[in-house]
Amino acid sequence: MSISDFLKKWWTIKTSTKNVKVEDLFATSSSNWVNNKSHVDSDLNIVSYGDKKEDSEVIAVVNDIFLHAMKSKASDIHIEPREKSVNIRFRVDWNFIEYKEIALIFRDSIIARVKIMSYLRIDEHRLPQDGKIAYKLFGWKSVDMRVSIIPTIYWEKCVIRLLKKDDKPPELKDLWIMPYNLVKIKKHLKDNYGMILAVWPTGSWKSTTLFSLLSQFNPKDQNISTLEDPVEYRINWVNHTQINPAINFTFAKWLRSLLRQDPDIIMVWEIRDEETAKLAVEASITWHIVFSTIHTNSATHTIQRLVNLWVDPLLISSSLRMIISQRLARKLCTHCKIVYKPNDKIKEYIVWKVWKYIKEKDDINLYKANDSWCEHCNHTWYSWRVWFYEVLEMTDKLETLMLKNASRLQLEIQAIWDGMIPIKEDWLLKVILWETSLEELLAVLGT
Ligand SMILES: [Zn+2]
Repeated sequence: MSISDFLKKWWTIKTSTKNVKVEDLFATSSSNWVNNKSHVDSDLNIVSYGDKKEDSEVIAVVNDIFLHAMKSKASDIHIEPREKSVNIRFRVDWNFIEYKEIALIFRDSIIARVKIMSYLRIDEHRLPQDGKIAYKLFGWKSVDMRVSIIPTIYWEKCVIRLLKKDDKPPELKDLWIMPYNLVKIKKHLKDNYGMILAVWPTGSWKSTTLFSLLSQFNPKDQNISTLEDPVEYRINWVNHTQINPAINFTFAKWLRSLLRQDPDIIMVWEIRDEETAKLAVEASITWHIVFSTIHTNSATHTIQRLVNLWVDPLLISSSLRMIISQRLARKLCTHCKIVYKPNDKIKEYIVWKVWKYIKEKDDINLYKANDSWCEHCNHTWYSWRVWFYEVLEMTDKLETLMLKNASRLQLEIQAIWDGMIPIKEDWLLKVILWETSLEELLAVLGT
């Protein structure tokens, strides 16, 4: 039986409209459609799972999943064992797209195949495991895959995050930053030293803003070094370092070593602990520009978080230049969205919040999804993403408040007084201008 016939037989076909048919994959050649230049090629011997023929079939199934995930521009692949089958679904723009349901007979060998590709133990079924795959498919950019395997009641569930190695970070102008925030950001990129933080509560794509900021500098004129986990984008002339948590060498230890490398600009992936926070702050007051991220809910929460990490408020006030708080939401699909007029109550609320920025207060349009079937977004109504920002600049008054141990609310009021546009206002403006929905705003930010 050819691999093509085999796949046709064993897949329980439950294909979404976007997916390529199995036949299409084998239109040219059934033997060389996959060209894995990494270690994947040499891993064809899943001896414990049957003879060579069966092995190549399992490899084809796994490659088929990877190929379709890449074609669908998925950020994650979920391989989920159920009672009677294995469910494969992709996360695309935050939405799940169900790819296929696979016969149970494949369950163990698919997970084993992924484990082999990511150098994990195939005989370990009780404990979670994390690994990596460097994957290259013929005609496609190479992709780094982060593999996470965790036991469930029906066998091990596998989630694979896809990171495209060759992708360039987006330009600042592509990040939907409103002019009032862009002016502040560009001003602080000209500072000679100091710390710039990007913050958000949860969610992926956190590195996008940081890398867009980094790409504003000329790495040939300066020593730009990063500490990352994982490395998502690669910029020419920038020294990217992948942190390896497995060898128990923390961010703080890496940062200490990096400071001996004569850096001008440092990007530390994340400040999680006291030692990293202190080192990053100290580095930024000794004529380095430090970019980093912290998990917090807002710009003013970040100041408190740094204080909670036992960083001296005096040092924070002399090092911190700017905090960019960001949120990510889904953008309405351009093919199925419809425009509508809000009712008076909603209109009043919008005008009350953003009256400063809009001229035509009576002519406010909102957008929502049309309920009809849309093949462009797979009937998810959303396609691509949009960012929302709150940019806090450190001012003398904020510094004074911080040194007095002011509450978050006091800091927030002062920051707004000093020119910070609250994230909800930035969002409302984008709801009117850039076609995301009010429902999405409420879902992400709350009322
Ligand atoms: Zn659509």
